[in-house]
Amino acid sequence: MRNLLVPKLYVDSIFEIDLQKLVDDGIKGLIVDIDNTLVAWDKKTAPVSVIKWFDEIREHGLEICLVSNNTEDRVVKFTEKIKIHAVHSAKKPTKAPFYKAMKTLGTDKTNTAIIGDQIFTDVLGGNRMGIYTILVVPIRSKEFWWTTIVRRFERFVLRKIKKGEN
Ligand SMILES: [Mg+2]
Repeated sequence: MRNLLVPKLYVDSIFEIDLQKLVDDGIKGLIVDIDNTLVAWDKKTAPVSVIKWFDEIREHGLEICLVSNNTEDRVVKFTEKIKIHAVHSAKKPTKAPFYKAMKTLGTDKTNTAIIGDQIFTDVLGGNRMGIYTILVVPIRSKEFWWTTIVRRFERFVLRKIKKGEN
């Protein structure tokens, strides 16, 4: 059970993934989570950096399919302008959405990689099928981390201001 929760690769963000290394390892298709992997869950569309990353994937000859446990509405809004295949309401870590995505990609368990931010959906789902798994640090927690620094700085500034008043 423990091994099923350990990703093959663990990176800070999608941009840290060495796409050429994946190609060299025989990977032909990527299954990618949306919320907190590509964007924060409340961002409706993909930023330029993510669109460029999709281009980079295609330039490496890799196919891509998004797989999200989120609703059809969210996933359709996210993908309608960028024209990328996606599976919504996926119920990860069940196997069905991954099989569906691999059918779209034209790949199988041996040449597909799953990229996501959650151990109990993305990593567990991929590992139990023997698929190459890549865990990324969730975008939302990074925002929280940044927010705590900002808050700390704000408190520091406020203390200084109050002292100045005395
Ligand atoms: Mg996620």
